[in-house]
Amino acid sequence: MHNLIALIRDRRVLAYCGAACYNATTTECTCICNGMNHGAGRRAAVQNTRANAKRCAEAFVDAHPWAAASELRLSLPKAPNKTKLLF
Ligand SMILES: [Zn+2]
Repeated sequence: MHNLIALIRDRRVLAYCGAACYNATTTECTCICNGMNHGAGRRAAVQNTRANAKRCAEAFVDAHPWAAASELRLSLPKAPNKTKLLF
C-alpha cells in the first residue's frame, strides 16, 4: 500500500494516510490526516499532503501522545521522499 504520510518509530508504522483514506466513501476518518484527505481522491490528497503534512502530523501527535518522538515520512510523487523528525 502506498502511504502519503506515515509516522514511524523503531521501524514500526504508528499512523499513516494512504489509499484507504483518500479513496474512502465512508464519512469517518481515523487516520493521521484527521480528515484532510478523506475521500478527496489521490490528486487532491497529494496536494493537501504536500502543503500540510507537518501540521497534520503535529496535530495528530498532540491528540495522540503515544505517537510522540516518531519520524514523519512523506512519499509524494515528483519529490524526493522527505523525512523530518518531530520533537
Ligand atoms: Zn487520511
